[in-house]
Formats: sequence, C-alpha cells, structure tokens
Amino acid sequence: MSLKIWLDGKLVEKNEAKISVYDHGLLYGDGVFEGIRVYAGRVFELEAHLDRLYASARAIRLEIPLPREQFRGAIEQTFKANGFTDCYIRAVVTRGVGSLGIDPKKCHDPSVFVIADLIAVYPKEMYDKGMAVITASVMRNHPNALSPRVKSLNYLNNILARIEANDAGVPEAVMLNHLGNVSECTADNIFIVRDGQVQTPDTADGILEGVTRRVMIALCHDQKIPCVEKTLQRHDLYIADEMFVTGTGAEVMPVTKIDGREIGSGQVGPITLKLTKAFHRHVRNV
Ligand code: PMP
Repeated sequence: MSLKIWLDGKLVEKNEAKISVYDHGLLYGDGVFEGIRVYAGRVFELEAHLDRLYASARAIRLEIPLPREQFRGAIEQTFKANGFTDCYIRAVVTRGVGSLGIDPKKCHDPSVFVIADLIAVYPKEMYDKGMAVITASVMRNHPNALSPRVKSLNYLNNILARIEANDAGVPEAVMLNHLGNVSECTADNIFIVRDGQVQTPDTADGILEGVTRRVMIALCHDQKIPCVEKTLQRHDLYIADEMFVTGTGAEVMPVTKIDGREIGSGQVGPITLKLTKAFHRHVRNV
C-alpha cells in the first residue's frame, strides 16, 4: 500500500506528493525542516521539535502558514493515516514557488509537507559494537553565517563532511568549528565520557541544539551521572574513555574509533550502555 503524505493541507498518495521545480526549497535550499520520531503511538518531544521548527523559520524570516495546533494535528494525522505506531516523521516548510531569482519576496505561499515512514539509519550490529568516525576537514558553518542552530534545507556543508566519511569508509564524521573546536557530527550531536563525567559541546560551539541531546543531558541528571556542556578540542576526543552520538534518526550510537584510534578500551563503554538503556526506557515511557 502506498504511503499517504500530508501536503499543503491534504493527505495525498506518495506518488502524487509533488513540489514545483520553481519552489525555492529546491532551487536554493530555502526552507526548514524537522526529523521527529513516534514511539508506541506517541510523538516524542513534539513540542521541542515544533519550538525548533518555528525558531528556525523565524531565523530565516519564513512565516509558517500554519498555526502550531494545526501543525501538531498534521503530524498526528499523517502517522495515524498510515497506521504507524513507531516511525520517523519528516516535517518540511519550503519558501514556496517563486521566480528564478533568489529573492524570497516573490514567493507568496510557503509549502508544508509531512512524511511518516520507517527508517533504519544504521545496522543493528553497529549499535552493539560501536561505529568508527573521522574528523572532517570541512568545518561546521560559522555561527555568524547561516547559524548551525537553524535546521535549514541547506545541508551541503554537512554533506561535504559526510562524503569525507564515505571516502574514509566510516558512517559519520565529526565537524570542527571555525575555531577548530568540536561542534557535532553531520547529523548527530556528540558526547564523550572522561573520568566518569559526560561532556558535550556547548550551543556556542556552533551546533544544532539536538532534541535528543537535551533529553540525554536530562537523563544524565536522572541517572546521577555528572554531565557538562563545554568546549571540546579534538584532543579531548582522542583521550576520551567513551564516546557516543545522539540524534532522532540514530538515537544513541556508541563510537569506538576516531581517525583510526581506538576510544578507551575500543569497546562500548559502561556509561554509554547505561545511558542507552535509560534512553530506550524513556522514549517508551517504561
Ligand atoms: N546535528 C545535526 C546537524 C542534525 O542534523 C541533527 C538531526 N539529525 C542532530 C544534530 C540531532 O538533533 P536531534 O536530536 O534533534 O535529532
């Protein structure tokens, strides 16, 4: 059975869900989006995702043509219409159809669509054994250019870093910021553990403020594991005892190698395991 996509107010079949080639979301990456998960029939951290979506839109001066309640309704309607209880949701707002120039003044009707589908970002064995990463030579966007806090449709910078990961035969890359400090991975936030303390780069280090990251920080508090947001250098990654990344798609993925070096023992660490279990209990509310 074909998927139903919510597009500008209507549920349409997947092969009918089409956007104009004049849409500036396509022509210029002019738009914003969210990746959200549904666990056991409940949208996980929906309000946090809507906050970030509306903030991203505001930052790029894009007015979302739906009030928040309707956006919430569109998300609920989409996964329910497809009979999902556990799935991934992609919510996208584009600048809409305009002329061939970049000026958004000519785009009068932003488009909104919501997709609900299944995803498996990484194979199951990788969650058990941990993944290898590299540090990319491409740096994260400068916070005073298009801020990394905006979840925009323009991911090219991260895509360039991901291509470096592909070339190196690993699934993810760590990006450094304009100062050479650690920011995040191409689609995930990064955490390390050192001497029993969990550490993750601060917002000011040029990151997308991940919803999963925030949940993870709260879980550290619940589990009485010290956790700090602070500037990290690549050196800190190299001498870490444990490392993991978080994201809506990836959830919690242990990292056991960086730039060919083993992290800690080279095995998934005990704090990573404890937090991963806590995360899975939390998302299903058990
Ligand atoms: N950083 C980047 C660049 C991302 O694209 C994402 C989302 N995939 C994340 C971090 C993680 O954010 P979240 O936990 O909200 O999915």
